[in-house]
Amino acid sequence: MDRNRSINEIEDKQKVWDLAVIGGGASGLGVALDALSRGLTVVLVEKSDFAKGTSSRSTKLLHGGVRYLAQGDVTLVLEALKERGLIMKNAPHVSRKQAFIIPIYSLWDKLKYGVGLKVYDLMAGNLRIGKSQWLPRKEVVQRIPAIMEEGLNGGVIYYDGQFDDARLALNIAQTCSEMGGCVLNYMKVTSLTKDENGIIDGVKLTDQISQRHHEIKAKAVVNATGVFADKILQMDNPEARLSIMPSQGAHLVLDLSFLGGKDALMIPETSDGRVLFGIPWHGKLVLGTTDTVIKNPTLEPRALEQEIDFILNTCAQYLVRKPTRKDVLSVYAGLRPLAAPKEKGAKTKEISRSHKVSVADSHLISIIGGKWTTFRKMGEDTVDALARLKGLQLAKSTSSKIRIHGYPETTVEEGHLAVYGSDAAGIRYLIEQNPDLGQQLHQHYPNTKAEVVWMVKNEMALKVEDILARRMRILFLDAQAAIEMAPAVAKIMREILGLGEDWEKAEIYAFQQLAEGYLINQKITILPTSL
Ligand SMILES: Cc1cc2nc3c(=O)[nH]c(=O)nc-3n(C[C@H](O)[C@H](O)[C@H](O)COP(=O)(O)OP(=O)(O)OC[C@H]3O[C@@H](n4cnc5c(N)ncnc54)[C@H](O)[C@@H]3O)c2cc1C
Repeated sequence: MDRNRSINEIEDKQKVWDLAVIGGGASGLGVALDALSRGLTVVLVEKSDFAKGTSSRSTKLLHGGVRYLAQGDVTLVLEALKERGLIMKNAPHVSRKQAFIIPIYSLWDKLKYGVGLKVYDLMAGNLRIGKSQWLPRKEVVQRIPAIMEEGLNGGVIYYDGQFDDARLALNIAQTCSEMGGCVLNYMKVTSLTKDENGIIDGVKLTDQISQRHHEIKAKAVVNATGVFADKILQMDNPEARLSIMPSQGAHLVLDLSFLGGKDALMIPETSDGRVLFGIPWHGKLVLGTTDTVIKNPTLEPRALEQEIDFILNTCAQYLVRKPTRKDVLSVYAGLRPLAAPKEKGAKTKEISRSHKVSVADSHLISIIGGKWTTFRKMGEDTVDALARLKGLQLAKSTSSKIRIHGYPETTVEEGHLAVYGSDAAGIRYLIEQNPDLGQQLHQHYPNTKAEVVWMVKNEMALKVEDILARRMRILFLDAQAAIEMAPAVAKIMREILGLGEDWEKAEIYAFQQLAEGYLINQKITILPTSL
């Protein structure tokens, strides 16, 4: 991926793209990938960084959704289980199989979850990744040493997928670029252009880095902006009905010792009737999530006090060592782009997580709702809708067979470089050429300077936040450590990007401001005195 090359491409005034995609999250990337697999020319623009929105803030599960099965949403579960299998096959470097244990305290629950999960296994068909089974109490305690033993009968173990959401997004963007697509971060759509019949024929853009304006022509435009979809719909038609009801989910990240093992904990019924997960992720424990309706969506949603208390209190009922606020290493929240229900007062947890493709009179196509797990199918359905709308005979989708950038062709990496897949060799080569780049950025984390160089040169990282939040994930794992790493990261970036000291200082300051929002207990900061 080369941003300057992509900018040159959109500056070609003669070019008419088959498809322009607005939004560089899971949905937009799924649409771009599928369209490229059918031979269309595609440009995808993201106003911030890839996956800056909801797509870096998920619970990190590739799942059919045990909860949706309980709600009887069989079609969604079947579809998601198939897609779970495809992601694990095509992007094994950013996904893995995870065992989940549901602690059981009553015979009724043993029957309910035992049978329910057998059905879940069967629904995955030949993409099944493990077999659910009953675990005696002793084994549950062995596997989750920190579980509360009082009243525990045993547990049900089942398997789902777990992934690095933002890195998968980035790798899909790289795959799109390798397939001939033009992908650009920090490129905001400011308006839509229309022909004399009122049909959309392009978009106007502003580069958020240089503030330069661009205009591109496209035969079709897809709105894949998640919780911001209504803004684009209203750019098209100021009278458009609001289609999105954003619902916030918060997560807390703690030390993995709070579970004590490698298995995930699944609490199937919390006091608000939802599920709560405790999942090992990059050596830490992610706890979540919640479901809170939010009025005004932003790119940096903040967990509410009551959401933090809810997660801590719910976990405290199941864990021997009760987590408290001072144990939280990072807190992050994301906004679900739920399709607004027609009837008033519907509860967000009851709104289906399946996706919807809609087409406006202007031919603006919007993809709304859905799940990360089903991103590819959402893309396929959107491109099918485009073909129907424009009367195109497109080739059959082959996106289910595309290996995602980083797919390890030869060796499977171990350790923290595993998530880079085949790119790990490139990072090691940088260190061989310049051993100084092998230096760690922080004493508690294995990430090196070489990774920063790699991310700037190959992964379109333009800001300190791009590196620490979405490519290295440290901000989500340990916000204080991320603040401490920022100066070293900014210095390396400044040298590669050829920028000045003012840029470096401003970046450190901006990152610190951002990262403080991920800390519950604000610790000592490293604000440069000159700022
Ligand atoms: C708390 C929570 C937990 C979840 N957990 C899971 C899970 O474990 N597994 C799972 O499968 N799913 C999960 N999901 C669902 C999943 O994360 C979302 O469905 C998915 O990430 C939505 O992707 P998106 O591309 O539609 O939206 P986003 O990721 O928000 O992307 C939309 C993008 O559009 C960009 N944009 C907006 N306006 C413009 C503009 N004018 N110009 C250019 N770009 C623009 C934004 O910057 C943004 O990056 C979870 C969701 C939440 C909220």
